[in-house]
Amino acid sequence: MTFDMSSAKQDILEYCLRSMEYGLNFNTQGNISLRVPDQKNRFLITPTDLEYDKMTVDDIVLVDEDANVIEGRHEPSSEVTVHLAVYRRRPDVTAIVHTEPIFANVWGVIGEPITGTLVNMVIYTKGDVPIMPFALSNNTAFGDAMCDVMGDLNAVVWANHGLLTVGDNLRDAFKTSVAVESAAQVLLHARSITTSPALLEFEKLGITTSL
Ligand SMILES: [Zn+2]
Repeated sequence: MTFDMSSAKQDILEYCLRSMEYGLNFNTQGNISLRVPDQKNRFLITPTDLEYDKMTVDDIVLVDEDANVIEGRHEPSSEVTVHLAVYRRRPDVTAIVHTEPIFANVWGVIGEPITGTLVNMVIYTKGDVPIMPFALSNNTAFGDAMCDVMGDLNAVVWANHGLLTVGDNLRDAFKTSVAVESAAQVLLHARSITTSPALLEFEKLGITTSL
């Protein structure tokens, strides 16, 4: 199947709107990007500082590996260099979703990983979701340090900021964001009752297929 640029932009826009609908983002928070599979070093990403409900497909920006705008009327997201660091480090990743959901952020502020509360999260993330210590996220150094923290997992929380999930398509990356936020919420409730809730470990599930 060949890559269709306009339907890819439409997909990005739809998942941006869904991130608002699901309460993962408010205002202009978050950003979504896609690796363009049939063009080397080309990436689609949401623009900076534009409300999702005002965004159209023509507002999605095409950039190169150095964040230069190749096509588009806006500047890319201020976190574009973080996305590009992930694409450099993780050839398996085709889509990235960054959101700023409440419950994942609780664990970021506490500085504790989101452990295996729900089976779907563990399958999608491939393990406990680690916490990247706070730093400003508009630069490559943050992206590289965050990739070190995330390793081969599919999710990482940025302390005092938000959540980043990856996948080999946008649907999977988005599903992972939703799963992490659900698990973060359940874990918070569980930990308010007991210090030792029942938790799952990815390695012990015996999952051999991908998402
Ligand atoms: Zn953010």
